[in-house]
Amino acid sequence: MKRALIVVDVQNDFCEGGSLPVTGGAEVAHKISTLLHHWTNQDPKAPDYAVAVATLDHHVDPGDHFSDDPDFVHSWPRHCVVGTDGVAFHPNLDPQPFDAVFRKGEHAAAYSGFEGTAPDGTGLADWLRSHEVTDVDVCGIATDYCVRATALDAVEAGFGVRLLTALCAGVAPATSESALAEMRSAGAVVL
Ligand SMILES: [Zn+2]
Repeated sequence: MKRALIVVDVQNDFCEGGSLPVTGGAEVAHKISTLLHHWTNQDPKAPDYAVAVATLDHHVDPGDHFSDDPDFVHSWPRHCVVGTDGVAFHPNLDPQPFDAVFRKGEHAAAYSGFEGTAPDGTGLADWLRSHEVTDVDVCGIATDYCVRATALDAVEAGFGVRLLTALCAGVAPATSESALAEMRSAGAVVL
């Protein structure tokens, strides 16, 4: 068994002060960075990940994903636009430990990290399989949207999936709760 950590969309625009802020985002960034620090220092209490990867929402012109009058379900204020500070990793998260970063959503909405590609064009599922990964821990922002979609796609792709809820932040409590229930019934272990 080889396990990977997948850190979803811990970016400036999704944290306090960004254009689409999720409450608790900055704190989640800090906690994930601490976990990565323990992992890279081979702290015996840290999870034994084979690799760690991140996803980034990375929009150029994603069509109706953006709206001046967003419904916050299917359309959203402009966020994570390439060339702006909003697309960057939150400063509380040190990205140095990541083995690869997968960007998604340049020209259409892309909630799942499994829609993302590395700079060489490799998709997340293929990349994980090429590193003999069998299981993944998923965390990041937001529980009810991109984390949910990434975890469900990971199950679908055949990986054993755990959701690290303490390292996630959600847009709203009700949709986050229903997302957790959905992930659980799909077969993910919600920790
Ligand atoms: Zn987006």
